[in-house]
Amino acid sequence: MSTTGSPRPVGVLALQGDFREHLHVLRELGADAIPVRRAAELDEVGGLVIPGGESTVMDKLSRSFGLAQPIRDRIAAGMPVYGTCAGMIMLADELVDAAEGQQTIGGLCVTVRRNAFGNQNDSFETDLPIAEFGDPAVHAVFIRAPAVERMSEVVTALATLADGRVVAVEQDGLLATAFHPEINGEYRFHRRFLQLVAEA
Ligand code: GLN
Repeated sequence: MSTTGSPRPVGVLALQGDFREHLHVLRELGADAIPVRRAAELDEVGGLVIPGGESTVMDKLSRSFGLAQPIRDRIAAGMPVYGTCAGMIMLADELVDAAEGQQTIGGLCVTVRRNAFGNQNDSFETDLPIAEFGDPAVHAVFIRAPAVERMSEVVTALATLADGRVVAVEQDGLLATAFHPEINGEYRFHRRFLQLVAEA
C-alpha cells in the first residue's frame, strides 16, 4: 500500500473482458491506471473498475487468482468500484439466472438478472437521459446485458429504460452500469468514478 502523499493509481480488473478499453478511457482522463491481476496490485490502487466480459469466467478466475475476497474486503473498507455489464453482475449482492455455482463479489445492495434482454434483443443501443450528467443523453450500448430487478433504498437509480428497468446505479462509492460507456467514447461515468476515488 502506498504511503507517500502522491495519489494512488486506479486499477482495472484484468483477468478477462474489455479491461484494455477501460484503461484507455481512464488514461485519457489523466488517471494513472494499472491492470490488476494479483492481490499485491490490488493493494496499490485507490479504486477499481470491473470490466464487461463474462461474469462466470471472471468469477472463477477472481477466486482462483485469490482476488475475490481481497476485493470484497477493500469494498467493505470503502474502496470505490465501477462495474460495467459483467462488472455490474460481479458487484451485485444477489443474482437471478446465475450459472450453477456462480458467486459474486457483492457490495451493491441489488438483485441483478443476467442476460435480462433475452435472445432477440441480445444487443441494442439507446439514448438514456441521466439527470446528473445533463446534456447530451448517454448513448448506451447493451451487449447481453443484465438489468437491476430489485434494489435497496440505499441504492440510487441513475438511469432507467423506457420500460422501467434500472440500468445504472450508485451506492456510496459503488457505481454500476448494465451498458458499456468504455466502448463508445462516453467518459462521464469514468469521470464520476475518478471523483469518487478522489473523495474516498
Ligand atoms: N452476459 C454476460 C455475463 O453474464 C455479460 C455481458 C457483458 O459484459 N457484455 O457475464
